Amino acid sequence: MNIIIGKSSGFCSGVQRAIKGATTALKEHKKFYCFGEIIHNPVVVKTLKDMGMVVVSDITKVPDKSWFVIRSHGLQIEIYKKAVEKKLEIFDLTCPKVKKIHRLVTELTGKGRFILIIGNPSHPEVKAILSLARENSRVIETPGELKTLTFSEQYAIVVQTTFNPEAFLEIVHDIILFTKKTIIYNTLCEETIKRQKESLQLANEVDFMVVVGGGNSSNTKTLYNTVKKRVPAVHIEDINELNMKLFKDVKNVGIISGASAPENEVKKVYEYLTGFTKN
Ligand code: SF4
Repeated sequence: MNIIIGKSSGFCSGVQRAIKGATTALKEHKKFYCFGEIIHNPVVVKTLKDMGMVVVSDITKVPDKSWFVIRSHGLQIEIYKKAVEKKLEIFDLTCPKVKKIHRLVTELTGKGRFILIIGNPSHPEVKAILSLARENSRVIETPGELKTLTFSEQYAIVVQTTFNPEAFLEIVHDIILFTKKTIIYNTLCEETIKRQKESLQLANEVDFMVVVGGGNSSNTKTLYNTVKKRVPAVHIEDINELNMKLFKDVKNVGIISGASAPENEVKKVYEYLTGFTKN
């Protein structure tokens, strides 16, 4: 069996920055609180928890004046304000690409634009963006949700960094048919797009793909959904989910990973398949 690892596997720059920042904070302060998971990968989250990170879902549970980290997806403005009220020592690890959307949305809202956020409404990145634009915005995940748009409204479109590019184009296409004065900002993450392009190329060269990444990771799910249209594929969080039966009659396997999956997990899959090949 021939095994090929995707060129862009391993952490993206935003996740690398968040993990480096969290590790440094833990070395210096032994403990910090984080609202929600710092990145969408259970293996990494567990490692950081073992080192002293405490994940909370309620900001009132964080003791005043303690160390507090903002995850790579950003934080809702209401929660941020509560953190400031509690005099928390804030270490902001929001990905710079996400931060850029925050600045853009704040500026556009100030100019009277109504913001259409294309993305998954339950994703923390989208919730944080929505909190900045408040009543002057709405989230759209599918083209079916466009019916109530007003033809003459001044809309501005932004998109969740890890949203599926094809789905984004489909929604944008329909919005511009419905409306007249819409400005489109392509805020998709270029690292995610590059990874998707490379993964599709690899999918054309192999007859099975293994996609490694957190089950709750948006970019990993998009990768998996994209490649499985071309070849049979499996999405795993860690090596224990692999089953040798999957590789019966497979000659060429591609291994790719989401932006929040460690290079080490990819290596483990490679070693597992190499061992399988030798046996
Ligand atoms: S996928 Fe892109 S936007 Fe998201 S954390 Fe990584 S670099 Fe930042």
